[in-house]
Amino acid sequence: MKRILVTGGAGFIGSHLVEYLLAQGHEVLSLDNYFTGSKDNLMHLRDHPRLEIIRHDVVNPFMAEVEQIYNLACPASPVHYQYNPVKTIKTNVMGALNMLGLAKRVKARILQASTSEVYGDPTVHPQVEEYWGNVNCIGIRSCYDEGKRAAEALMMDYHRQNGVEVRIARIFNTYGPRMAIHDGRVISNFIVQALTGEDITVYGQGHQTRSFCYISDLVEGLVRLMNTEVFEGPVNLGNPEEYTILEMAQKTLQFTGSSAKLVFKPIPHDDPQKRCPEISKAKRLLDWQPVVPLATGLKETIGYFKEKLRQLGQPLVV
Ligand code: NAD
Ligand code: UDP
Ligand code: UDP
Repeated sequence: MKRILVTGGAGFIGSHLVEYLLAQGHEVLSLDNYFTGSKDNLMHLRDHPRLEIIRHDVVNPFMAEVEQIYNLACPASPVHYQYNPVKTIKTNVMGALNMLGLAKRVKARILQASTSEVYGDPTVHPQVEEYWGNVNCIGIRSCYDEGKRAAEALMMDYHRQNGVEVRIARIFNTYGPRMAIHDGRVISNFIVQALTGEDITVYGQGHQTRSFCYISDLVEGLVRLMNTEVFEGPVNLGNPEEYTILEMAQKTLQFTGSSAKLVFKPIPHDDPQKRCPEISKAKRLLDWQPVVPLATGLKETIGYFKEKLRQLGQPLVV
């Protein structure tokens, strides 16, 4: 049994990770400022004897005695990370710095939630860890992309300079229950729109691609990466099945049984044209690959949103 800190513990990925670590028998500290996360996500665990729920902002120093740190605190949806871009950079850079300072002091191992966004609008496809990326460092996504790149740099420098044990997960698009209804990312938008009969908002022509990993697969990958004794730099974690956004809109309609209309909206600035993880490193180092098929994951997620919308008294069309 270990004492484990999860920053961003009340968020989508964080809350699933907290639940998984508790089930493994660990003692868990969840730290969150509730910007995009919600206490609801941890409500079912609030009386758990091995869980401590703390409100804290990672831009400020934090003291605790822990053995492992998962640093997930950061808004992940473009809508939310662009809402206050300066705060997004501070969260990424100062959050990583503070958690590394903590890791150094207490000799904890730290895993940084990085992102496929470090590859920007990639010219190498699928993306391998060796690729340095194609990021617009002055664009509207840079608060997130460059923030995460700086966090990776800090991880490597604390590792080289101070011998801190670090792990870096480059997470690709992940979906599942507990995404917020107004999160703004594509899967939650499409499902909520389909269930409530609103128009399905496809940005651009919908020809851009993404690869979607179900939450339980991702959490399994994160925990394996944290606990492997071999460190070989960043590791991609994602599902290598690639779909166009238009295909995702059609699948959402198919699996919800909705007859909502597709509408085409302007494509956001610097929206990457394609994205797909090359995961042979994760396969080799962690013996990990996603196992949940898209159809299964989408049905679970649709079920979750149906229930959530019902609780909120929203009329459903299917
Ligand atoms: P999320 O928005 O649901 O969760 C992020 C959590 O961090 C929220 O609970 C939020 O309140 C908290 N937070 C934000 N700023 C904070 C701060 N300054 N101090 C303390 N807490 C703060 O997003 P998520 O999808 O769960 O993402 C979790 C992590 O994984 C993020 O670091 C994100 O960049 C990374 N990631 C996610 C995806 C994905 O597809 N979900 C892909 C790549 C990387
Ligand atoms: N820090 C923290 N918790 C700790 C130890 C350090 O939040 O338990 C913060 C500390 O306030 C500093 C950052 O981590 O802002 C980096 O710490 P480090 O000791 O590496 O650098 P220094 O304090 O010497 O700048
Ligand atoms: N997207 C869309 N409609 C939406 C939300 C997103 O067409 O309502 C597109 C977006 O332009 C991008 C892709 O879906 O090409 C994935 O967007 P998301 O915000 O989920 O994540 P990203 O991978 O861009 O960070």
